[in-house]
Amino acid sequence: MAQKKKKDRLNFQGKDLEYYNALIEAREKVLAQMQYRVDEALDRSNAEKRGVSTHMADVSNDNARHEMELRMLSEDGDVLKLIEEALKRLENGEYGRCQECGEPISEGRLKIRPYAVFCVKCKTKHEEQARR
Ligand SMILES: [Zn+2]
Repeated sequence: MAQKKKKDRLNFQGKDLEYYNALIEAREKVLAQMQYRVDEALDRSNAEKRGVSTHMADVSNDNARHEMELRMLSEDGDVLKLIEEALKRLENGEYGRCQECGEPISEGRLKIRPYAVFCVKCKTKHEEQARR
């Protein structure tokens, strides 16, 4: 099997460049979001240290909120991983193909989720399996 030449990130052109920019933009958005969540959590824990929330009801609300934040942060982390993988696929010339069936992922879908791993068909299949 012939080894495909790896593309240089700095030399992306045309569609590749568009996808690259979309991925970088998505990555910046996620990073900013994570930073915001961390800052928020820090602010609140500082407020808590000053004894702002002392009622039991507040405390359990805070715990639930903490848990939700942690879950969202880990989801952000997952997206970051997907973006990194998509960037690698772009370099390898495999970008935009479903990692399951190998069919091209529609451009409309890539516009919404530039780091999409599966085509709509396979994604739907996975979601149906997860629901069972
Ligand atoms: Zn597929």
